[in-house]
Amino acid sequence: MRSYKIKLRKNMAKQQNIRPENIKSDFFVDSTCIDCGTCYWMAPSIFKRVGNMSAVYKDPVTDLEFQKSAEALLSCPTNSIGTKSFNKKIAPISKNFPLKISDNVYHTGFHSEKSYGAASYFIQDDNENILIDSPRYLKKLANNFKNLGGIKYQILTHKDDIADTDRYQAEFKSNRYIHKGDIAEKTKHYEIQLTGNKEIILNKNTLIIPVPGHTKGSVVILYKNKFLFTGDHLAFSPKFKHLYGFKNHCWYDLKLLIKSVEKLLDYKFTWILPGHGHPFSGTYEEVRDSLIKCINYLKK
Ligand code: SF4
Repeated sequence: MRSYKIKLRKNMAKQQNIRPENIKSDFFVDSTCIDCGTCYWMAPSIFKRVGNMSAVYKDPVTDLEFQKSAEALLSCPTNSIGTKSFNKKIAPISKNFPLKISDNVYHTGFHSEKSYGAASYFIQDDNENILIDSPRYLKKLANNFKNLGGIKYQILTHKDDIADTDRYQAEFKSNRYIHKGDIAEKTKHYEIQLTGNKEIILNKNTLIIPVPGHTKGSVVILYKNKFLFTGDHLAFSPKFKHLYGFKNHCWYDLKLLIKSVEKLLDYKFTWILPGHGHPFSGTYEEVRDSLIKCINYLKK
Protein backbone atom coordinates (compact mmCIF):
# COMPACT_ATOMS: atom_id res chain seq x y z
CA MET A 1 0.00 0.00 0.00
CA ARG A 2 2.85 2.35 0.89
CA SER A 3 4.66 1.94 -2.43
CA TYR A 4 1.36 2.40 -4.25
CA LYS A 5 0.79 5.72 -2.48
CA ILE A 6 4.28 6.95 -3.31
CA LYS A 7 3.87 6.01 -6.97
CA LEU A 8 0.51 7.75 -7.12
CA ARG A 9 1.95 10.93 -5.59
CA LYS A 10 4.88 10.97 -8.04
CA ASN A 11 2.53 10.69 -10.99
CA MET A 12 0.05 13.27 -9.82
CA ALA A 13 -1.22 16.02 -12.07
CA LYS A 14 0.90 19.15 -11.88
CA GLN A 15 -0.53 22.34 -10.39
CA GLN A 16 1.70 24.53 -12.58
CA ASN A 17 -0.12 23.00 -15.60
CA ILE A 18 -3.68 23.64 -14.35
CA ARG A 19 -5.95 24.52 -17.25
CA PRO A 20 -7.54 27.97 -16.86
CA GLU A 21 -10.82 26.42 -18.03
CA ASN A 22 -11.28 24.70 -14.60
CA ILE A 23 -13.62 26.43 -12.19
CA LYS A 24 -12.40 27.15 -8.64
CA SER A 25 -12.23 23.75 -6.91
CA ASP A 26 -9.75 21.52 -5.10
CA PHE A 27 -10.00 19.18 -8.12
CA PHE A 28 -8.40 20.29 -11.37
CA VAL A 29 -7.40 18.98 -14.79
CA ASP A 30 -3.95 19.85 -16.12
CA SER A 31 -2.81 20.42 -19.70
CA THR A 32 -1.57 16.82 -20.20
CA CYS A 33 -5.19 15.64 -20.77
CA ILE A 34 -5.45 13.53 -23.96
CA ASP A 35 -9.24 14.00 -24.22
CA CYS A 36 -9.85 10.23 -23.84
CA GLY A 37 -13.31 10.94 -22.44
CA THR A 38 -13.08 8.70 -19.35
CA CYS A 39 -13.86 11.38 -16.77
CA TYR A 40 -16.74 12.73 -18.92
CA TRP A 41 -18.78 9.58 -18.33
CA MET A 42 -17.39 8.47 -14.97
CA ALA A 43 -18.19 11.80 -13.27
CA PRO A 44 -20.35 13.72 -15.77
CA SER A 45 -21.57 16.23 -13.21
CA ILE A 46 -17.99 17.35 -12.43
CA PHE A 47 -15.91 17.05 -15.63
CA LYS A 48 -16.71 18.09 -19.16
CA ARG A 49 -14.94 18.81 -22.42
CA VAL A 50 -13.95 22.45 -22.77
CA GLY A 51 -11.76 23.34 -25.74
CA ASN A 52 -10.68 19.78 -26.69
CA MET A 53 -9.66 18.82 -23.16
CA SER A 54 -11.36 18.09 -19.86
CA ALA A 55 -12.03 20.68 -17.16
CA VAL A 56 -13.75 20.72 -13.77
CA TYR A 57 -17.01 22.65 -14.21
CA LYS A 58 -18.62 21.91 -10.84
CA ASP A 59 -17.00 21.57 -7.45
CA PRO A 60 -17.74 18.12 -5.97
CA VAL A 61 -19.76 18.86 -2.84
CA THR A 62 -21.55 15.68 -1.82
CA ASP A 63 -19.80 12.47 -0.75
CA LEU A 64 -21.01 10.77 -3.92
CA GLU A 65 -19.65 13.57 -6.13
CA PHE A 66 -16.31 13.35 -4.32
CA GLN A 67 -16.22 9.57 -4.73
CA LYS A 68 -17.02 9.75 -8.47
CA SER A 69 -14.41 12.48 -8.99
CA ALA A 70 -11.80 10.46 -7.10
CA GLU A 71 -12.61 7.32 -9.12
CA ALA A 72 -12.21 9.35 -12.33
CA LEU A 73 -8.91 10.76 -11.02
CA LEU A 74 -7.62 7.24 -10.36
CA SER A 75 -8.84 6.02 -13.76
CA CYS A 76 -7.38 8.89 -15.82
CA PRO A 77 -4.75 7.25 -18.07
CA THR A 78 -2.40 10.24 -18.01
CA ASN A 79 -2.74 11.33 -14.37
CA SER A 80 -4.07 14.64 -15.64
CA ILE A 81 -6.55 15.06 -12.79
CA GLY A 82 -5.33 16.24 -9.41
CA THR A 83 -6.30 17.90 -6.16
CA LYS A 84 -4.52 21.03 -4.98
CA SER A 85 -4.59 19.74 -1.39
CA PHE A 86 -3.14 16.27 -2.30
CA ASN A 87 -6.33 14.98 -0.70
CA LYS A 88 -5.45 11.93 1.41
CA LYS A 89 -8.94 10.46 0.99
CA ILE A 90 -8.26 9.65 -2.68
CA ALA A 91 -5.73 6.77 -2.53
CA PRO A 92 -7.95 4.54 -0.28
CA ILE A 93 -10.70 4.76 -2.94
CA SER A 94 -8.55 2.41 -5.08
CA LYS A 95 -10.03 -0.41 -2.99
CA ASN A 96 -13.39 0.24 -4.74
CA PHE A 97 -12.03 -1.12 -8.04
CA PRO A 98 -13.23 -2.91 -10.05
CA LEU A 99 -16.43 -0.85 -9.82
CA LYS A 100 -19.68 -2.76 -9.95
CA ILE A 101 -21.88 -1.80 -12.94
CA SER A 102 -24.73 -4.28 -12.55
CA ASP A 103 -25.12 -7.92 -11.49
CA ASN A 104 -21.66 -9.48 -11.59
CA VAL A 105 -20.23 -7.11 -14.21
CA TYR A 106 -17.59 -4.54 -13.28
CA HIS A 107 -15.69 -1.61 -14.79
CA THR A 108 -12.00 -2.15 -14.00
CA GLY A 109 -11.05 1.56 -13.94
CA PHE A 110 -7.33 2.45 -14.06
CA HIS A 111 -7.35 3.13 -17.80
CA SER A 112 -4.07 2.90 -19.65
CA GLU A 113 -2.46 5.48 -21.90
CA LYS A 114 -1.24 2.51 -24.00
CA SER A 115 -4.82 2.02 -25.20
CA TYR A 116 -5.60 5.74 -25.35
CA GLY A 117 -7.59 5.47 -22.14
CA ALA A 118 -10.01 2.73 -23.27
CA ALA A 119 -12.28 1.17 -20.62
CA SER A 120 -11.94 -2.49 -19.72
CA TYR A 121 -14.34 -4.76 -17.86
CA PHE A 122 -14.39 -7.73 -15.50
CA ILE A 123 -17.05 -10.43 -15.25
CA GLN A 124 -17.18 -12.54 -12.10
CA ASP A 125 -18.78 -15.79 -13.21
CA ASP A 126 -18.25 -18.81 -10.93
CA ASN A 127 -14.84 -20.20 -11.84
CA GLU A 128 -14.84 -18.58 -15.27
CA ASN A 129 -14.02 -14.93 -14.58
CA ILE A 130 -13.32 -12.85 -17.67
CA LEU A 131 -11.25 -9.72 -18.22
CA ILE A 132 -12.35 -7.83 -21.33
CA ASP A 133 -9.53 -5.68 -22.73
CA SER A 134 -6.98 -4.50 -20.22
CA PRO A 135 -6.51 -1.79 -17.62
CA ARG A 136 -3.06 -0.53 -16.69
CA TYR A 137 -1.30 -2.98 -14.41
CA LEU A 138 -1.43 -2.25 -10.70
CA LYS A 139 -0.60 -4.82 -8.05
CA LYS A 140 -3.46 -3.47 -5.95
CA LEU A 141 -5.97 -4.00 -8.78
CA ALA A 142 -4.56 -7.46 -9.54
CA ASN A 143 -5.05 -8.35 -5.85
CA ASN A 144 -8.64 -7.12 -6.03
CA PHE A 145 -9.20 -9.43 -9.07
CA LYS A 146 -7.62 -12.24 -7.05
CA ASN A 147 -10.07 -11.62 -4.21
CA LEU A 148 -12.92 -11.91 -6.74
CA GLY A 149 -11.63 -15.30 -7.94
CA GLY A 150 -8.89 -14.40 -10.43
CA ILE A 151 -9.07 -14.24 -14.23
CA LYS A 152 -9.63 -17.38 -16.31
CA TYR A 153 -10.10 -15.74 -19.71
CA GLN A 154 -8.98 -12.48 -21.23
CA ILE A 155 -10.83 -11.42 -24.36
CA LEU A 156 -9.35 -8.63 -26.46
CA THR A 157 -11.97 -6.79 -28.52
CA HIS A 158 -9.24 -5.68 -30.93
CA LYS A 159 -5.50 -5.13 -31.13
CA ASP A 160 -5.48 -1.52 -29.88
CA ASP A 161 -6.87 -1.96 -26.36
CA ILE A 162 -4.47 -4.59 -25.05
CA ALA A 163 -2.57 -2.30 -22.62
CA ASP A 164 -1.03 -4.50 -19.90
CA THR A 165 -2.72 -7.78 -20.83
CA ASP A 166 0.68 -9.54 -20.84
CA ARG A 167 1.22 -8.68 -17.18
CA TYR A 168 -2.25 -9.88 -16.14
CA GLN A 169 -1.73 -13.06 -18.16
CA ALA A 170 1.62 -13.66 -16.45
CA GLU A 171 -0.04 -13.28 -13.06
CA PHE A 172 -3.24 -15.26 -13.65
CA LYS A 173 -2.13 -17.69 -16.41
CA SER A 174 -5.35 -16.86 -18.24
CA ASN A 175 -6.04 -17.84 -21.84
CA ARG A 176 -6.22 -14.79 -24.09
CA TYR A 177 -8.64 -14.68 -27.01
CA ILE A 178 -8.13 -12.43 -30.01
CA HIS A 179 -9.34 -12.69 -33.59
CA LYS A 180 -6.75 -13.72 -36.18
CA GLY A 181 -7.57 -10.57 -38.17
CA ASP A 182 -5.93 -8.56 -35.38
CA ILE A 183 -2.78 -10.60 -35.05
CA ALA A 184 0.22 -8.29 -35.05
CA GLU A 185 3.70 -8.38 -33.59
CA LYS A 186 2.34 -7.40 -30.17
CA THR A 187 -0.53 -9.95 -30.19
CA LYS A 188 0.93 -12.95 -32.06
CA HIS A 189 1.78 -14.83 -28.84
CA TYR A 190 -1.80 -14.82 -27.50
CA GLU A 191 -3.02 -18.29 -26.62
CA ILE A 192 -6.28 -18.54 -28.63
CA GLN A 193 -6.64 -17.05 -32.11
CA LEU A 194 -10.21 -16.98 -33.41
CA THR A 195 -11.10 -17.32 -37.08
CA GLY A 196 -14.12 -16.71 -39.32
CA ASN A 197 -17.17 -14.52 -38.93
CA LYS A 198 -19.48 -16.83 -36.99
CA GLU A 199 -20.16 -16.39 -33.29
CA ILE A 200 -17.99 -18.43 -30.94
CA ILE A 201 -19.45 -19.94 -27.75
CA LEU A 202 -16.99 -19.33 -24.91
CA ASN A 203 -19.21 -20.84 -22.21
CA LYS A 204 -22.91 -21.15 -21.40
CA ASN A 205 -23.24 -17.40 -20.73
CA THR A 206 -20.78 -15.87 -23.17
CA LEU A 207 -20.61 -15.43 -26.94
CA ILE A 208 -17.78 -13.82 -28.89
CA ILE A 209 -19.16 -12.20 -32.06
CA PRO A 210 -16.77 -11.14 -34.84
CA VAL A 211 -17.60 -7.60 -36.02
CA PRO A 212 -14.94 -6.61 -38.60
CA GLY A 213 -14.86 -2.96 -39.56
CA HIS A 214 -13.12 -0.77 -37.02
CA THR A 215 -10.26 -3.26 -37.36
CA LYS A 216 -10.14 -6.48 -39.37
CA GLY A 217 -10.39 -8.66 -36.29
CA SER A 218 -12.72 -6.66 -34.03
CA VAL A 219 -15.07 -8.71 -31.85
CA VAL A 220 -17.84 -7.89 -29.36
CA ILE A 221 -18.72 -10.04 -26.36
CA LEU A 222 -22.32 -10.84 -25.42
CA TYR A 223 -22.84 -11.95 -21.84
CA LYS A 224 -26.14 -13.47 -20.64
CA ASN A 225 -28.04 -11.80 -23.52
CA LYS A 226 -27.80 -8.64 -21.46
CA PHE A 227 -24.34 -7.05 -21.59
CA LEU A 228 -22.64 -6.27 -24.89
CA PHE A 229 -18.98 -5.29 -24.59
CA THR A 230 -18.25 -3.39 -27.77
CA GLY A 231 -14.59 -2.28 -27.72
CA ASP A 232 -14.35 0.42 -30.38
CA HIS A 233 -17.19 -1.00 -32.51
CA LEU A 234 -19.89 1.30 -31.11
CA ALA A 235 -20.73 3.48 -28.13
CA PHE A 236 -23.39 5.96 -26.98
CA SER A 237 -23.23 9.58 -28.05
CA PRO A 238 -24.78 12.10 -25.61
CA LYS A 239 -24.67 14.61 -28.50
CA PHE A 240 -26.67 12.46 -30.96
CA LYS A 241 -28.61 10.76 -28.13
CA HIS A 242 -28.19 7.36 -29.77
CA LEU A 243 -25.55 4.70 -30.39
CA TYR A 244 -22.93 5.49 -32.99
CA GLY A 245 -19.91 3.89 -34.69
CA PHE A 246 -16.58 5.68 -35.11
CA LYS A 247 -16.81 6.41 -38.82
CA ASN A 248 -14.05 9.02 -38.58
CA HIS A 249 -11.83 6.56 -36.74
CA CYS A 250 -12.53 3.46 -38.80
CA TRP A 251 -9.15 1.82 -39.38
CA TYR A 252 -10.22 -1.04 -41.67
CA ASP A 253 -13.49 -0.89 -43.66
CA LEU A 254 -16.55 1.33 -43.12
CA LYS A 255 -18.89 -0.81 -45.25
CA LEU A 256 -17.94 -3.86 -43.21
CA LEU A 257 -18.40 -1.84 -40.02
CA ILE A 258 -22.00 -1.04 -41.04
CA LYS A 259 -22.68 -4.71 -41.87
CA SER A 260 -21.24 -5.70 -38.50
CA VAL A 261 -23.54 -3.25 -36.69
CA GLU A 262 -26.54 -4.63 -38.68
CA LYS A 263 -25.53 -8.13 -37.60
CA LEU A 264 -26.14 -7.14 -33.97
CA LEU A 265 -29.88 -6.73 -34.71
CA ASP A 266 -30.02 -10.55 -34.50
CA TYR A 267 -29.09 -10.42 -30.81
CA LYS A 268 -30.73 -9.12 -27.65
CA PHE A 269 -29.02 -6.98 -25.01
CA THR A 270 -29.81 -4.07 -22.72
CA TRP A 271 -26.32 -2.75 -21.92
CA ILE A 272 -23.65 -1.37 -24.23
CA LEU A 273 -20.25 -1.23 -22.53
CA PRO A 274 -17.69 0.30 -24.91
CA GLY A 275 -13.93 0.79 -24.85
CA HIS A 276 -14.13 4.41 -25.90
CA GLY A 277 -17.19 6.58 -25.50
CA HIS A 278 -20.15 6.51 -23.15
CA PRO A 279 -21.89 3.35 -21.94
CA PHE A 280 -25.63 2.97 -22.45
CA SER A 281 -28.48 0.93 -21.00
CA GLY A 282 -32.18 0.69 -21.78
CA THR A 283 -34.90 -1.80 -22.51
CA TYR A 284 -34.38 -4.30 -25.36
CA GLU A 285 -36.61 -2.10 -27.53
CA GLU A 286 -34.75 1.13 -26.66
CA VAL A 287 -31.37 -0.43 -27.39
CA ARG A 288 -32.61 -1.88 -30.69
CA ASP A 289 -34.10 1.47 -31.68
CA SER A 290 -30.77 3.14 -30.85
CA LEU A 291 -28.92 0.52 -32.91
CA ILE A 292 -31.10 1.31 -35.93
CA LYS A 293 -30.33 5.03 -35.49
CA CYS A 294 -26.63 4.09 -35.36
CA ILE A 295 -26.92 2.22 -38.68
CA ASN A 296 -28.71 5.18 -40.31
CA TYR A 297 -26.04 7.54 -38.96
CA LEU A 298 -23.24 5.37 -40.36
CA LYS A 299 -24.93 5.16 -43.78
CA LYS A 300 -25.28 8.96 -44.13
S1 SF4 B 1 -9.69 10.96 -18.00
FE1 SF4 B 1 -7.84 12.21 -18.01
S2 SF4 B 1 -7.07 12.15 -20.13
FE2 SF4 B 1 -9.17 11.39 -20.15
S3 SF4 B 1 -10.42 13.20 -20.62
FE3 SF4 B 1 -10.35 13.04 -18.39
S4 SF4 B 1 -8.60 14.29 -17.74
FE4 SF4 B 1 -8.41 13.93 -19.94
